[in-house]
Amino acid sequence: MKYQLVKGTKDVLPEDAPRWRLIEEKVRGVMTRYNYREIQTPIFEETDLFARSIGPYTDIVGKEMYTFQVRGGKSLTLKPEMTAPVVRAYLQHHLGERAGLVKLYYLSPMFRQDRPQAGRFRQFHQFGAEAIGSADPRIDVETILVALRIYQELGLKNTALLLNSVGCPRCRRPYEEELRAFLVGRLKGLCPDCRARYRKNPIRVLDCKREGCLSLLAGAPMILDHLCDECREHFGEVQHLLKALNISFEVNKQLVRGLDYYTKTAYEVISAELGAQDSLGGGGRYDLLVSDLGGKATPAVGFAAGMERLILVMEKQGLFAGDKPGTVLFIAALGPEAQSRALKLAETLRGEGVPCELDYLDRSLKAQLREANRQGAKLVVIIGEEELKSNEAIIKDMKGGSQEKVPLEGINSYIKQKIKAGLQ
Ligand code: AMP
Repeated sequence: MKYQLVKGTKDVLPEDAPRWRLIEEKVRGVMTRYNYREIQTPIFEETDLFARSIGPYTDIVGKEMYTFQVRGGKSLTLKPEMTAPVVRAYLQHHLGERAGLVKLYYLSPMFRQDRPQAGRFRQFHQFGAEAIGSADPRIDVETILVALRIYQELGLKNTALLLNSVGCPRCRRPYEEELRAFLVGRLKGLCPDCRARYRKNPIRVLDCKREGCLSLLAGAPMILDHLCDECREHFGEVQHLLKALNISFEVNKQLVRGLDYYTKTAYEVISAELGAQDSLGGGGRYDLLVSDLGGKATPAVGFAAGMERLILVMEKQGLFAGDKPGTVLFIAALGPEAQSRALKLAETLRGEGVPCELDYLDRSLKAQLREANRQGAKLVVIIGEEELKSNEAIIKDMKGGSQEKVPLEGINSYIKQKIKAGLQ
């Protein structure tokens, strides 16, 4: 093969497409029920938008962005995540001026130059929600409920909700000093990235997945034990609300998420089915991002969830069984005149909303019937020379095997009735 997919990317083949559509429809349906409205943003943005918001000491900005220079010298980046573009659009179009709380959702491809492995791609897809404008813990909980409902209604089993609070600058500064004091004696054992993080943003050391770093973190102070009163109260309320809703969760003090702009609530939904890359989706509060990007201080919360990993889990749990689509009707025709009648009939039926297919390969009747069967057609209309002469067609019920002769005149109405009567 001369040309192959670029490493870390994936084709969605026709047999996979219904799976994507199933999930997309579920996402749209649930989002609409919770009153989130769809937003779409371009595939690329100015590099600075991501560098600034996600933070320079994150893996995403440090190593994973697809950045390119365009004529005139401007640097652009394929979006690695959606929160920054959503906030950019929120500010640019003054969405907050029309409503106190703006609730948005998206479905979009993302691009990160990650090391490809199971569940990790370089072009992948996320759905997510952002609620911009409220600091109320109930909205943190609402975003969690949206994510969980999507998984639940898709039939997912064995997921777990992990919860933490990463505080705010007020509690994080003194905590960072404490964490640095803990890390300083262990610096030699940390990876080069973590050594840089130690200086600039030590909390991200807790998110390092390298064995060497992980083993040095036993006994490290955790932000959850150092929250200021406001953050502690907020976190308490989030937990209280989840309990009142009978949503089980696990507090995980080490959960800090990969991006710098998070404050207070951080959460992740994981699946036992996923192995090392076990995160299905995650989110949290980002009260500082809107002002960081030039707006007035505006609290916000949201989540992002991966589509590829969700599909992986659904496949493992057999949740796509019986999703083989089929065309409803196949029109088998023999000879030029019949073929032209068939094309006309198909056009009429398609115009009236009936999906149908024809033979374009001049196949024998037997081969056309075999093809109709392969495509899962429920009904086959047969038009041959005989049928043209008698102005009738044969309609064959592929499941029951019965055949009947029907006048060609008005056959479209007859077929539609038959389909309505239960063949679909
Ligand atoms: P993040 O934006 O890193 O918090 O990721 C949110 C979700 O997106 C993860 O839980 C994954 O489901 C998905 N995700 C992130 N990075 C990738 C990737 N490289 N390939 C596939 N899915 C990803």
